[in-house]
Amino acid sequence: MNNTCLEIKIKSLNLKHNPIFTKKDHIKYVQDWRGQYKGDAAAILKPINTNEVSSILKLANENKIAVVPQGGNTSLCGAATPDSSGTSIVISFEKMNKVRQFNKESQTITVESGVILSHIHDVVEKENLFFPLSLGAQGSCMIGGNLSTNAGGVNVLKYGNTRELCLGLEIVLPNGKIMNLISELKKDNTGYDLKNLFIGAEGTLGIITAATLKLFQLPKMITTLFVEANEISNAVKLLNTFKSHFPDRIESFELMPKSFWEVAKNNIDNIVMPLEKIPEMGVLIDVSSFSKNEITPNENGEIQIIKSIENVLEECFEVNLISDATICINENQKRALWSIREAAAESEKKELENSNLIKCLKHDISLPVESIENFHKEAQIMITNFLPNLKTIYFGHLGDGNLHYNVFGNGSLPDGFDGKSLELTKELYKIVHNYNGSFSAEHGIGQLKKDSLKTHKDEVAYSIMGIIKNQLDPQGIMNPGKVMF
Ligand SMILES: Cc1cc2nc3c(=O)[nH]c(=O)nc-3n(C[C@H](O)[C@H](O)[C@H](O)COP(=O)(O)OP(=O)(O)OC[C@H]3O[C@@H](n4cnc5c(N)ncnc54)[C@H](O)[C@@H]3O)c2cc1C
Repeated sequence: MNNTCLEIKIKSLNLKHNPIFTKKDHIKYVQDWRGQYKGDAAAILKPINTNEVSSILKLANENKIAVVPQGGNTSLCGAATPDSSGTSIVISFEKMNKVRQFNKESQTITVESGVILSHIHDVVEKENLFFPLSLGAQGSCMIGGNLSTNAGGVNVLKYGNTRELCLGLEIVLPNGKIMNLISELKKDNTGYDLKNLFIGAEGTLGIITAATLKLFQLPKMITTLFVEANEISNAVKLLNTFKSHFPDRIESFELMPKSFWEVAKNNIDNIVMPLEKIPEMGVLIDVSSFSKNEITPNENGEIQIIKSIENVLEECFEVNLISDATICINENQKRALWSIREAAAESEKKELENSNLIKCLKHDISLPVESIENFHKEAQIMITNFLPNLKTIYFGHLGDGNLHYNVFGNGSLPDGFDGKSLELTKELYKIVHNYNGSFSAEHGIGQLKKDSLKTHKDEVAYSIMGIIKNQLDPQGIMNPGKVMF
């Protein structure tokens, strides 16, 4: 169908919000956050409810029109960018941003897919509840995108990833049928777990229009500390030490090594460094407190949780596990530190624009925590031998073995880095695989890692994924070119 015909058909749906057909108004929706993927679309549609989504998909399915679901468009692997044909429809969920139900007693909230993640935080925290999904893009990513990527973030260590935070979903299938799996139940053994099929599917099987999410008690206090360990193995020992002293209370455990701080220093205005010198292997830790006693100062003005953390740190100093540490004493200090961590992707983006580094090969990998040190050593040998002058900047959620292991070319590199970069990534993933890790920890597959999925996914599992995709979406309209086909 040509685009004029499509325009007429879309207009006949009488959507409440005007479809956008003018190309110059498409720009925001047809390229990704990093500016690495650029596509084109026939129209941008902004449905206001599930029925509208259903009628759009019905039309698309009947006419074999590609549909690209889009939330906050913060994907780091081109998952929400249409191809360049200009024939796809982008469905943006900006206008589906209502809280349907907030049940404080059952500690659940049901929201439409276009609700911005930080808005969920704001709503529930007013009632002393907590939705733990937290990531750098939380001011713009949407819950539908978070679910569709099974996003991770900084609190996975304690609460799990998005999949584990979701109780129910409402889904529109590619043929327009609405599947209602909205539920507040913690137990529901009624056959196949279809909900989980759509979480992490990156919009290739259907559209998530609403979700019921699990909430938790808001900690009475979070103590944030920053520690310098000299090497990764010490950071891992530190993790185990903290886990054993504060079981189930380590909210985050983030690795921020020297290369991370060098980039942060170059790109964050008025940065306040947590320690006197750039830490070799910095670790940012959040410990939660749920008891009033632990956080109320005693007659000497001492706070029990701070004392306990200081004692653990002292033990760690004695056995040379750490060389420096600081505990944040107020909210401003905490925010300042966390904002540096949250700005990691932004800082790297600026570094690429402003320094002599060229092209960033992003790797979002996970490994068994105890293998990280050996993986790093082996990876560095491979990278050094691959080409001279490559620079690795890595950081990540050490608590759950997730590293963002990014390799940059240097401006003075001989020609050919571009051509060889795919090979480097392949070599790196082989090492990850040998350590029983995953080449895709939290950002998803999108366009970026389609080939790697084929290479590294178990063959039988990959073929079953194909069967499911073909059964649910026989016309192949749902986000084509992403994940598999
Ligand atoms: C600064 C920054 C920091 C980040 N930090 C993290 C991090 O710590 N952890 C992490 O996991 N990710 C992180 N990301 C990546 C990104 O924010 C997440 O993948 C996020 O979950 C994407 O949400 P979104 O709303 O932007 O989705 P989009 O980018 O719009 O879409 C992502 C995928 O979901 C699909 N999709 C979107 N909405 C729907 C829907 N309603 N139904 C079906 N499919 C849909 C899209 O088609 C696409 O395949 C970061 C990104 C940035 C820019």
